[in-house]
Amino acid sequence: MKFKNNLLKQLVSDCIAELMPTYKKEEAAQMVFWLTEDFFGMTKSALLLNPERRLSESEMLSLHFAVKSLKSHVPVQYIIGKVEFLNLSLQVTPAVLIPRPETEQLVDWILQIETAQGLKILDIGTGSGCIALAIKQGLPNASVWGYDQSSDALVVALQNAKSNGLDVHFFKGDIFQEKIELDPVDVVISNPPYVMQSEKSVMQPNVLEYEPYTALFVPDETPLLYYEGILKQAQLLLKPEGRIYFEINEAMGTEMVALLNTWDYKAVHLKHDLNGKPRFISGIKQ
Ligand code: GLN
Repeated sequence: MKFKNNLLKQLVSDCIAELMPTYKKEEAAQMVFWLTEDFFGMTKSALLLNPERRLSESEMLSLHFAVKSLKSHVPVQYIIGKVEFLNLSLQVTPAVLIPRPETEQLVDWILQIETAQGLKILDIGTGSGCIALAIKQGLPNASVWGYDQSSDALVVALQNAKSNGLDVHFFKGDIFQEKIELDPVDVVISNPPYVMQSEKSVMQPNVLEYEPYTALFVPDETPLLYYEGILKQAQLLLKPEGRIYFEINEAMGTEMVALLNTWDYKAVHLKHDLNGKPRFISGIKQ
């Protein structure tokens, strides 16, 4: 795109217009204000108060490239390189899934229930570390571990622990290849890959083209693959009366209740997300 002048107010409307064929207006506007806030410290209201703010050549260039990336569906969170997750500011790179609002709800729910002191908690498939870190922030006396098969994701998680001053132990492994080496824990949490290949047709290009495929997708024939692997690990990892919490595919509520029953969990509880979809499940080990 060509910028007509360097007045930020004008540039903002030009950028929004430029993005309109690709995104809905509100979405385009939100993304552009995200950029102006992150790049130039100008929120929407700051811009109203400073209508004369002009950009330098290099500032214009960074805005230009960001809009170009947005037009090819790069998620705005990867362009900015960070997201807010509950009270945390987290780095995100294409090596990790962008934390979703549903997952904030999962953490909120767990923090309402798990109020005991000194709990040992393991998050499997930690990605950016969002769940493990937010749990540690809510439960400073707990010992929290985050496990992932991706070294690139663990680099991001470690960085997020450091930048938020949270002491979470991150370690690497593959649930399908080896037993997780950890003393028994009170709580296991996971938001594993659960999107079926056949659901791709209803997904946005920003997710399909830029987010880590292996963090999202499962074969149609084995949609509960990760849950089965995690439940198998939990047989050895969870203390008696230990709790398991999962985020799940909304289409798999009934199947997940059956699966937890098969593994002999009690008090199995299916919980809906803010959109009214069955999205979370918990159970207590006998
Ligand atoms: N909720 C995410 C999405 O719809 C998927 C998260 C996951 O696979 N664990 O993109």
